[in-house]
Amino acid sequence: MSDFFSETVKRLTPYIPGEQPKDGVYIKLNTNESPYPPSPNAISALKNADFEKLRLYPDPECVSLRNTYANYLGVSSENVFVGNGSDEVLATAFQTFFAGKNNVLMPNISYSFYPVYCNLYNVRATEIPLKDWRVVCDDYCVANNGVIIANPNAPTGVGVSCAEIENLLKNNPQSVVLIDEAYVDFGGQSAVGLVKDFDNVLVIRTLSKSYGLAGLRVGFAVGGKKLIEGMNTVKNSFNSYPVDFLAQLAAEEAIKDVDYLNQTTSKIIATRERTALRLKNLGFNVLDSSANFLFIIHKEIDAGFLFNYLKQNKILVRWFSDPKIKNGLRISIGTDFDMEKFCDIIANALEAFR
Ligand SMILES: *Cc1c(COP(=O)(O)O)cnc(C)c1O
Repeated sequence: MSDFFSETVKRLTPYIPGEQPKDGVYIKLNTNESPYPPSPNAISALKNADFEKLRLYPDPECVSLRNTYANYLGVSSENVFVGNGSDEVLATAFQTFFAGKNNVLMPNISYSFYPVYCNLYNVRATEIPLKDWRVVCDDYCVANNGVIIANPNAPTGVGVSCAEIENLLKNNPQSVVLIDEAYVDFGGQSAVGLVKDFDNVLVIRTLSKSYGLAGLRVGFAVGGKKLIEGMNTVKNSFNSYPVDFLAQLAAEEAIKDVDYLNQTTSKIIATRERTALRLKNLGFNVLDSSANFLFIIHKEIDAGFLFNYLKQNKILVRWFSDPKIKNGLRISIGTDFDMEKFCDIIANALEAFR
C-alpha cells in the first residue's frame, strides 16, 4: 500500500489544527484567533485595492511590507523575511538551519507543529522538560545543533524574560536559536532588540493572533542578514511568491495602525486577567499567561469531561491528546461576553460532575 509515496511521506504524522466549524453557532475558544476584527485601515486597503493588478505577480521580495515592518520594529529591512503565515516561515527556518541535524533542543511541551517539521526535514530533536510549567533557558545552554522555543510558550502561555534569552544566545554562539513570538504582543518580552547584537537569533512573528488576521496568512522572521539570506535561498528554491498582492497590502496597513493593535491587545489582556481570576475561584490551577489564552487544570475533574460538556453547550476549547498535557485545557480569550458565558458554563460543568 501507498507505494506511490516517498519514504518521507510514509513517516509523516501531520499537525492537526483546531476545529473550524462551518455552522457558526459556536463560541470559538480553540485556535487562539482574535475575537476582534483586523484594523479598519487593513479592511479599507482591501476594499480599495486595484483588483486589476491581480493580473500581475505580487512583489516577490515584499519590499514595501518589509520596510514597514522593519521600521515598526526598529531593525533594517534586510533583517526581515516574510512568508505565508508563520507556520510557513517556521518550516523555511527548519529547512534552512536544522534539516538533517540531530540534537536540536526544544521544550517537551510546546507548539505541536515543531515535531511535525522535525519529521518532514529529518531533524532529531532533544526534548528538554519544562520545570513547573516553565521553559528554563539555562537548560538549553548545553551542546546542541540548534534551539527552538516559543516565547510565550504554547500551550502553556508562560513567558521567559529577555535577559534569559540573551543569556541563552551568549551560551550558544555556534547554534541558530529560533524564538517563536506568535503571542508576544499579549504581554511577552521580545527578543527583537537582540537581533543587532547577536547573529544567531531568529525571531518568528505572525499577524494571525494579535492583529486579528489569521485568515490573511502573513508571518515574519527577524534576524541577522546572513540568516535571512539563507532563508531567502530556500524560499526562492520553493516558491518565489508566497505572499499574495492583497495580503501584502492589508498587512502593511495593519502594521502601521499601532494604536489599534494596542487597543485590541489591551482589551484581550484585561479579559484574560478577569477570566483567570474567575477560574481560580472555581478551583482551577491557571498557569501564568502572557498570551491570548489560558492553560487550566482541575485537580479533580477530567479535562475530557469538561471539553465535551463545553462542546455540547456550543463552546469549543482545545484539549490535546499529548499525555503530558491531557489533564488540562487551553482556552483562547474571546470577548468579555464570550468569557462570561464560558465561565458560567464551566461552573455548571463542575456542578454536573459533583
Ligand atoms: C498560531 C501559532 C503559529 C502560527 O501562526 P500562523 O502565522 O497563523 O501560521 C506559530 N507558532 C505558534 C506558537 C502559534 O501558536
